Amino acid sequence: MRTSIATVSLSGSLTEKLTAASRAGFDGVEIFENDLLASPLGPEEIRARCADLGLTVDLYQPLRDIEAVPEEEFARNLRRARHKFELMRRLGADTVLVCSSVHPLAADDDALAAEQLSRLADLAQDFGVRVAYEALAWGRHVSTYDHAWHVVETAGHPALGTCLDSFHILSRGSDPKGIEDIPGEKIFFLQLADAPLLAMDVLQWSRHYRCFPGQGGFDVAGLVRHVLRTGYDGPLSLEVFNDVFRQAEAGPTAVDAHRSLLVLQEQVGVADLPAPVVPTGVAFAELVTSDAGPVADVLAALGFTRGARHRSKPVDLWQQGEARVLVNTGTGVRRGDGTGLAAIGLESPDPPGAARRAEALLAPVLPRRRAERDAPLDAVAAPDGTELFFCATDRPGLPNWRADFEDTGQPAAGTGVTRIDHLALVQPWHHFDEAALFHRGVLGLSAQESVDVADPYGLLRSRAVTGEGGGVRIALSVGAAPADDTVHAQHIALSTPDVVTAARRFRAAGGALLPMPANYYDDLAARFAFADGELETYRELGILYDRDAHGEFRHCYTRTVGRVFFELVQRDGGYRGYGAVNAPVRLAAQHAARRLTGG
Ligand code: MG
Ligand code: MG
Repeated sequence: MRTSIATVSLSGSLTEKLTAASRAGFDGVEIFENDLLASPLGPEEIRARCADLGLTVDLYQPLRDIEAVPEEEFARNLRRARHKFELMRRLGADTVLVCSSVHPLAADDDALAAEQLSRLADLAQDFGVRVAYEALAWGRHVSTYDHAWHVVETAGHPALGTCLDSFHILSRGSDPKGIEDIPGEKIFFLQLADAPLLAMDVLQWSRHYRCFPGQGGFDVAGLVRHVLRTGYDGPLSLEVFNDVFRQAEAGPTAVDAHRSLLVLQEQVGVADLPAPVVPTGVAFAELVTSDAGPVADVLAALGFTRGARHRSKPVDLWQQGEARVLVNTGTGVRRGDGTGLAAIGLESPDPPGAARRAEALLAPVLPRRRAERDAPLDAVAAPDGTELFFCATDRPGLPNWRADFEDTGQPAAGTGVTRIDHLALVQPWHHFDEAALFHRGVLGLSAQESVDVADPYGLLRSRAVTGEGGGVRIALSVGAAPADDTVHAQHIALSTPDVVTAARRFRAAGGALLPMPANYYDDLAARFAFADGELETYRELGILYDRDAHGEFRHCYTRTVGRVFFELVQRDGGYRGYGAVNAPVRLAAQHAARRLTGG
């Protein structure tokens, strides 16, 4: 289907918005009146620019407070409309949006509304324009889609149809099934937006919190299925008012937006995308650093062995059980601010298939081979820049990244770490929703609910994405403002069947665990009954505790190295979370540790 986006959904000047929409692959745009008013380009120039960029102008919006008003008011509205229709002719736009009136003088009179909209449509027709009438969720008298359709049907004018907007319909809790009663040719336009499920004034909700389909809590795909059953064949158009998108760079936002429509079209069965290939495990986590010393010390104390070295690059493979950490001291140190998590190897049942899926969903594809002798690996970049390698570790017949490494012959040690439990990635503050959609849509992971976590200096949002069976768990988090990297660090959580033993061995090997405040343990004692001595052990080692309906979680943290720290986790009985309830205490402890070390 054709895809379109309202210019209000993107930041920047009109020209910047048009360029971003075109580059991301949209077929058309809705031009928002304010974007046109503020542009130095005349309507003909905008029309030419759109044509050059391969964009059609699918909608001009909006005309407001038109209908069901006193006659003298309506005469003024017609005069204004005539100007706008003239402008649209110059712009090459053939559909105008009319939002249901919020005018204080508007009458609760469907017959009058229909009659005036019919006269507006008469005028529009003279200019080759169609009028799409949309129910605002906060319209004074018309606030539901079926009411707007009733008015349109009453008017019975060929140049008057309705515009459906998923936000206005779903925010009111209207049943979208009734859309199927509207003839498809009378649905002149379809605007799509999702939103998080919030209990707030619907106008504020709409103006500030809309997001792209798949990023919120609405069943946008379900609504679109009803619309498609009517025979609607116009564009799927995104109209998203969002405080974050208004500030974020237009280019990545437009890509995020178009990706959301590709995933949506797949959901409703009108897109032909390569099937998702869900990763089954973490092959490796790759750290880049300019100084391997500090991170090597931590890994050694954690029981990792520097078991292999890359044949041609300064990359060491540290291993323990199935947990593998690459330490790269070569090029590629990102952001120049110390040790960071730069790449993740995902164990994939079909690496080339996973890459094809990612590419079809607009993920930047990375070169398959870094050096002549390297195994050709399929890799893409995630929105935060993290490189994702699709791996087939030691699987015959497939390129094997492990074969690029030569064993050092160092004997395995171990503190009982078996595998990587989860990876925690800090997202740029304006890419949080995009990251969740990316990991879900591109990688086929399932997203859990977003949670708010209190940091002493701000609020963090966190959302986990997981594969079936917990083989891949990624916790995405973001600060409310541009993050303080040194505290809001990424982390690698290592799974162990016995966190107390692992923590003791780590300490005995010279490792430093993050100390936790005594008050935390007093609170734990109040919340749970522990066996004799258990709590004292946790207090001594800085082990945190949580429990859910499925099981228990015990975890502790190393000191931060650069922008990364490690977590030891013991997950028992099918516990599903990440200890989010403990995160505020951990964050405060990290702030305190940083002040002490002057880091
Ligand atoms: Mg709308
Ligand atoms: Mg964690």
